Amino acid sequence: MTYDNYKLSNPQDDGWTSDEVTSCCGDECEKIEDENCELQIVCIACGYYCDMIEPHEYEERQREKYAEMKEDY
Ligand SMILES: [Zn+2]
Repeated sequence: MTYDNYKLSNPQDDGWTSDEVTSCCGDECEKIEDENCELQIVCIACGYYCDMIEPHEYEERQREKYAEMKEDY
């Protein structure tokens, strides 16, 4: 799927699409209520609170991380 098709496939942006992945692990998430009854997004891969981002954004972050790692060595 191209990026353009991906955009077109989500004409109704309700702020939540199942295509999104967790910002930390790029995995699926779970929505839970915390002690303040606020909805929190928890990554099912690592169990930490996280944000949801689009897959292409996650890939971009991974690329940046990899580029930083290479600079360290
Ligand atoms: Zn995670």
